[in-house]
Amino acid sequence: MLNFTKIDRNNPLKRGVMERIKDFNEVYTVFDKNKAEEQAERCIGCGDPYCHNKCPLHNIIPAWLKETANNDLELAFNISNETSPFPEILGRICPQDVLCEGDCTLNDTHGAITIGAVETHISETGFEKGLKPKFSHKKIGKKVAVVGSGPAGISAATFLLREGVDVDMYERANKAGGLLTYGIPGFKLEKERVQRRIDWLCEAGMTLHTNCEIGKDKSFDELEKNYDAVFIGIGATKGKYPGIDGEKNENVHLAMEFLTQIQKRNFEEKVENFIDVKGKNVVVIGGGDTAMDCVRTSVREGATSVKCLYRRDELNMPGSKKEVVNSKEEGVEFVFNVSPKSITTEGVNLLETTMSEADESGRQSVKIVENSDYLEVADVIILALGFDQELPQFIKDTSLELDKWNGIKVNEKYQSSNSKIYSGGDSVRGADLAVTAAADGKMAAKAIVESFK
Ligand code: SF4
Repeated sequence: MLNFTKIDRNNPLKRGVMERIKDFNEVYTVFDKNKAEEQAERCIGCGDPYCHNKCPLHNIIPAWLKETANNDLELAFNISNETSPFPEILGRICPQDVLCEGDCTLNDTHGAITIGAVETHISETGFEKGLKPKFSHKKIGKKVAVVGSGPAGISAATFLLREGVDVDMYERANKAGGLLTYGIPGFKLEKERVQRRIDWLCEAGMTLHTNCEIGKDKSFDELEKNYDAVFIGIGATKGKYPGIDGEKNENVHLAMEFLTQIQKRNFEEKVENFIDVKGKNVVVIGGGDTAMDCVRTSVREGATSVKCLYRRDELNMPGSKKEVVNSKEEGVEFVFNVSPKSITTEGVNLLETTMSEADESGRQSVKIVENSDYLEVADVIILALGFDQELPQFIKDTSLELDKWNGIKVNEKYQSSNSKIYSGGDSVRGADLAVTAAADGKMAAKAIVESFK
């Protein structure tokens, strides 16, 4: 440990650009043992580690870094898998620069510890050596229905099964995993990683019902009657529109619709009205990680040109910095300080913007520059402007209290206005990160188990 003055921060190696844009396989390689040990040795073992506090799962990061540096993979694996339902997945997809690594004590001076990459290494190498997540063999005689198989649902199921609770998971899609399976592209997270976790949950006794939509294939009343508790983790996938003329034209598509179609096609599932961007000029409106997923997917789909339009400057982009770098490397062009005014069959009419001085919170507001309209020619326009909560019929039919954004209202124990029904993740808080959904699923599972005592 304490080697940060001698050893530089290193990121895992990336596949070459010309090779990686030809497929949907992951871009980053996994650290080998020597690299992981070397990078873990840079940790200074802070007494009150900011990285741990900033991680929504409160992973005990310095402890598993220490055991990695000490070459005790099994202990590192156990510590890492104790607090996280799927460390190797979050190590790949978390925006570490705004979470654990952003708060690492070394971040501003010597470069943060590569926490995510070491986290991925620990579990992947552990799996290769035959280590597996542990579940309880002792059942406590309680049964919970988990509605939705995304990060919140998988996390809730994991922590319930660990406590000996029986779990039935209901998923309306063909495969489990929700956003992890259908939303996040394979170049960030290969789908076998998600399936492996689902398989282990089934091995631990979970019954998975795919192609089963609650309210259509099974009534919510049935769940309420037949289970000791129900956890709802249905996400927030309804794309937002900017409220401009032409936003529902045929050449305009929502980000999640596009990403899901591509993934379904990659799974060889049936896709209707496929959004084909091959040979097209594509613009993506938005500056978050979903926008980056769309531009990079468009590159892989053979678009002639791909542009990302964002209304603030590069410094104020909300997404992960590494995803912007990767997009640029892959040939995406960025146009900053522009706001869409209207959409036509020719493309997007844009207005230039400027940014005000930062207010007390550090936030700068966006101002439109008058008479600055110009046309950005495009064949396909993809909107990546965030997500609203869906309000499926089965939720409408319950008497659950909702907030004004249609989120399910829960108390500090993740319990809704119906004490038997719990919820967490995006269906409560609105569109957020996979890791916050995982943290909610974990806390809700603990509260459910506590309620059985
Ligand atoms: Fe960092 Fe995310 Fe892992 Fe937490 S789960 S340690 S925030 S990469």
